[in-house]
Amino acid sequence: MNWDTSFIDTSKDFDALKSAVNIAITHGIEVSLYNFPLCSVPEPYRRLTPSTISDWKRKYLDVCETCNSRDACGGFFEWCKHSEGFGEISPL
Ligand code: SF4
Repeated sequence: MNWDTSFIDTSKDFDALKSAVNIAITHGIEVSLYNFPLCSVPEPYRRLTPSTISDWKRKYLDVCETCNSRDACGGFFEWCKHSEGFGEISPL
């Protein structure tokens, strides 16, 4: 219910999250980025994005049909509105 005020599109701007992740890793903290579609994260950080959305509540977008990384990607929550979500999704 707080999507409008709390969602930050990391597919368009990963800088703030990148800084936080780098600081955590530098200090020996194990980092995982939950519920991030694989292509919404820059390549060096994709190893931190486990597929965490259960299959019964996961969906993929039409653009995902040709993606070679779909098996490794957690996709999107079923109720996610693409128009309000990650804006720069593209097949890997
Ligand atoms: S195109 Fe779709 S399946 Fe491929 S990484 Fe992006 S969100 Fe995941």
